[in-house]
This record gives sequence, structure tokens and C-alpha cells, in this order.
Amino acid sequence: GFKCGIVGLPNVGKSTLFNALTRTAAAQAANYPFCTIEPNTGEVAVPDSRLKKIAEVTKSKEIIPTRISFVDIAGLVRGASKGEGLGNQFLANIREVDAIVHVLRCFEDDDITHVEGRIDPVADAETVETELMLADLESLERRIVQIRKRATGKEKEALTILPMMEQALALLQDGKPVRMLLDGIAHEDLVILQGLNLLTSHPVLYVCNVSEAEAATGNEHTAAVEKMASAQGARTVIISAAIESEVAQLPDEDAKEFLDALGLEEPGLDKLIRAGYELLHLITYFTAGPKETRAWTIQKGTKAPGAAGVIHTDFERGFIRAQTIAYNDYVTLGGEVAAKEAGKARDEGKEYVVQDGDVMLFKFNT
Ligand code: GDP
Repeated sequence: GFKCGIVGLPNVGKSTLFNALTRTAAAQAANYPFCTIEPNTGEVAVPDSRLKKIAEVTKSKEIIPTRISFVDIAGLVRGASKGEGLGNQFLANIREVDAIVHVLRCFEDDDITHVEGRIDPVADAETVETELMLADLESLERRIVQIRKRATGKEKEALTILPMMEQALALLQDGKPVRMLLDGIAHEDLVILQGLNLLTSHPVLYVCNVSEAEAATGNEHTAAVEKMASAQGARTVIISAAIESEVAQLPDEDAKEFLDALGLEEPGLDKLIRAGYELLHLITYFTAGPKETRAWTIQKGTKAPGAAGVIHTDFERGFIRAQTIAYNDYVTLGGEVAAKEAGKARDEGKEYVVQDGDVMLFKFNT
């Protein structure tokens, strides 16, 4: 599955947020038996209002959302790249994730110590980013010596990865994160970049943790973070971890009332989960029948056989074609039969790139 790693300085609200996520997941667990929760990993359902609409027109018995994981990565302090604090464990954990959710303290509270003695989320973000860049710089400088030698010897693998390594190194030496290479990167290059196992090549989402009173509006600190994020082409979500941990314990109706009173339309966690999903360049397709309506996760650009493979490897191996109905057609026309009659059910082959919201039925050889 796809994983978002939660990072940030100590005392910014990471655990509070993570616990709210896992409590939400625990509450869901009864309905979704395959949800496993490890100590520092929580798997949560991706909220998607389309599921209910598809299930209604299909008259499905059950709704099964798709899922994504969050990992609580504790231990980042100034000096982590040099092995301070839980440095090495931290660096190992962070290499395993696909994207980074960077929590920043934007709440004032004199009772909660700030490790640097002041509330300045933009400076905090730089502290964390600097540690990650230093760790990447060190690891690349060490590895590139060998690769340059092997490339001079015309070794194929070295020749393939060296250009990407050189580009990444140049950015880091310039004090910039490797994720700047991600924008518009070709798929082959992305695979090479991911293979380099760097920390700053992961896409990042900033989470501003604010007090309950400022959850709907944000504050001067969140404005500063938003400015910094937009300069980097990154996204920001404003959340109150304190609110989220309360909401996660309430039954649905009470949670709605509680959020209404605070001027919030939905739980911040829903926003966070969706933003994490987008950050990972993931999209959803659906399968629908009398038994269940179900959402499936694929990476943008996946072709029909690959999408079928998410359900079962046999579906991919024996793929013949896929009956495909766009979400809007499926719902507005009233389901599969009506969509077929209206000529809106397409037969797609091996080269079809699956689109977000496609309702699919795979034909395959066993
Ligand atoms: P971590 O070290 O980043 O995991 O931070 P924690 O989640 O353990 O939070 C550190 C402390 O800050 C705890 O005492 C939390 O209750 C408190 N805290 C977290 N979020 C908020 C918030 O939004 N407002 C206030 N006032 N305190 C918070």
C-alpha cells in the first residue's frame, strides 16, 4: 500500500494527529476486517462521496472504500542527519514512505515547550528540511564516487543512474531539496530517482496545527506557512490536532454538531487524507455490483491491465478488455444497464489509461 510519513519537530502535535487517525481507523475496523494497525502505522479509509452514489444506483449491499497508510516517524531533532536523537532509526523509517506529511506548530501555548523556544513554523520547516538535505547530501556524495568510476568503465547500470544522481547532487549542493526534480519528470526518470532512496525526493504536504479557535480561520503563522509552501509548489492543510482527537472519539451525529459549532464543514482528517492521496498522485476507479461497490487505488497513468492487477494478479495476466463507464454517466444515467443502452459503456483494451472515477468491469482469461 501507499504510505505517508508524518514528520516534524518534537511537541508540534504529530502523535496527537496520528492517534486521531488511528482512532478513526479503529472505529472503521469493524466494517473493514482487513485493516491492520501496527504501533506506528495506521491504515485509514479514503473518504469519497462518489461511493455512496454508485452504491445507490447499483443497489449494492456493501460499500468498501480504498485505503492509505500513515506512519508516525518520531525522532527528528536538529542534528538528526549526524545521528543525534533517534537519528538513524528516523532516517531509516523515512526512506520507506512515499510522501511526507510535515506537521508544523502554529498554536501558541506557554504550557507546551517548543524545542527552539519560540513559535516560528517557517523556521521549523527549514530546520527539518536542512536535516533531510544534509543526510541526502552525505549519502549521495558517498555513493556517487563509485558510480562515477563505474560509469567511466561504461557499466550499464551506472550510466543509467549517474545523470539523475548528478542532478540531485547539484540541487543539494545548492541548498535545495531533490523533490524539485519531480515537476514534469518522465516516468523512467522517476523510477531511477525513487531507486536512489533519498529523503528529500518525496513530495511534501505541510500540516499547520492550530488551536481549536483558529481551525476555521488559520492565523498569522499559517499564512506564513502558506506563503512558503506556495513558493515551493507544495500544499498546506490547516488542522487542529486537538479537535481531531476529540472528533475521532464521537459518534457521527455528535461529531457533525461539534464541527458545526466550530464553523467546520468536515473533519480535518478527511481533508488530510484526501490531500495525502493527491500528493501521492493516486486516483480511484470503482467496481460495482449487487454485493458491493468498491474503490480501488492506482497511480495516475496506469493502464487497464495494471489497474485490474490491483484486484488480483490473475486479472492482469489474463486481461482481455475492460467495460468502462465514466462516473458521471454511471450515476446520472442510473447504472450499468442504462449506461450501456445510452452507448456510454466503452470496451477498452490493454493500452487504455484508466481515468479517475471510471466504473470498470474486467473481462479476463483464467
Ligand atoms: P509530537 O511530539 O509532535 O508528537 O507532539 P504531541 O502530539 O505529543 O503533542 C505535544 C503536546 O502538545 C501534547 O501535550 C499535546 O496535547 C499538545 N498539543 C498538540 N496539539 C495541540 C493544539 O492544537 N493545541 C494545544 N494547545 N496543544 C496541543
